[in-house]
Amino acid sequence: MTNLGSIKENLSVIRTKIDCEAKKSNRSKDDITLLAVTKTVDVDAIYEAIEEGITDVGENKPQELSRKYQVIGDAVRWHQIGSLQTNKVKYIIDKVHMIHSLDRIALCEEIQNRAEKIGRSINCLVQVNISKEESKHGLDEEDVVEFINDVSNNYKNIKIKGLMTMAPFIDDKDEIRSVFKRLKDLSIKIDSLNIPDIDMRTLSMGMSGDYDIAIEEGSTIVRVGTSIFGERNYNKN
Ligand SMILES: *Cc1c(COP(=O)(O)O)cnc(C)c1O
Repeated sequence: MTNLGSIKENLSVIRTKIDCEAKKSNRSKDDITLLAVTKTVDVDAIYEAIEEGITDVGENKPQELSRKYQVIGDAVRWHQIGSLQTNKVKYIIDKVHMIHSLDRIALCEEIQNRAEKIGRSINCLVQVNISKEESKHGLDEEDVVEFINDVSNNYKNIKIKGLMTMAPFIDDKDEIRSVFKRLKDLSIKIDSLNIPDIDMRTLSMGMSGDYDIAIEEGSTIVRVGTSIFGERNYNKN
């Protein structure tokens, strides 16, 4: 992650890698969405990425998403990728294409109420804490089926499209791979249950350091920030 070039150059490197990993796992590169993670990245750089063909961007702070949306609007699809506080749903409900961090019923309640009011359905991924790291958000693996059944029965404006996880921040590639594998296995298991209105086709996994492994294990959305825009400067904004 050290030899970064311009946004254009970085995207070209990443796309080549995605293409190559997709081929390895007998998939088309079109099955994998490169989600540009734009937290702390300014609007000019986001426009540059859009010019280079980026169609989807991810933010983890609702107010930041909202602020950038006021400028950029629907030139891209907006994804909420970080843990989401219920009192911040209001900032993004009318702007997001997908929420990647559905992980508790209180959040479902809030999304349902606000989505209903504006007559929208909200695409969501259930965040699963496969690695069980204390710092990670998400449901425990063994609680996911019950949670999804609950959403299917009671939250009609929430459309579950799949699962999301974060790999542990470790160097052990085998351990990282096993986390991705377990998320994929879980999605296959849930898919086989044929729960009404539940779709398991999307798997959001893989970031700058591990998206190659994630694609080999079946990822359909990779969330990449640093490898596109460089190291984040949290003091700038
Ligand atoms: C910041 C962030 C990313 C991107 O991480 P990079 O290592 O910069 O690619 C991906 N997913 C989530 C949930 C994030 O918060």
